[in-house]
Amino acid sequence: MGSLEQTPRQRIIALLTGTLLSSHQLAQLLGMPERHVEDHLTHIVKSLARDPARTFLLEPSDCQNCAYAFRDRTRLTRPSRCPRCRSEAITSPRYGIRNTDTGA
Ligand SMILES: [Zn+2]
Repeated sequence: MGSLEQTPRQRIIALLTGTLLSSHQLAQLLGMPERHVEDHLTHIVKSLARDPARTFLLEPSDCQNCAYAFRDRTRLTRPSRCPRCRSEAITSPRYGIRNTDTGA
């Protein structure tokens, strides 16, 4: 336990920078329930929306049965059922953070 321990949100931001992870993967890495991860993500999205140096990326869920993509979905949680074919084989959305500084 160091004195510079990061908050859960700082840890999530660090884990997501430069990669894509599902909330399930984040929950395992952080050792916290997935719904807590989603709650933190909601706040991270809001704070990064005001941060010109970083962009929050969302790779949407899609249906593994008919390939329907949930592109208009704004909530972060995984949909339970496909509206087109009613399959429940929905992939988890994945999240990432890209630094948008003046690099490449
Ligand atoms: Zn479907």
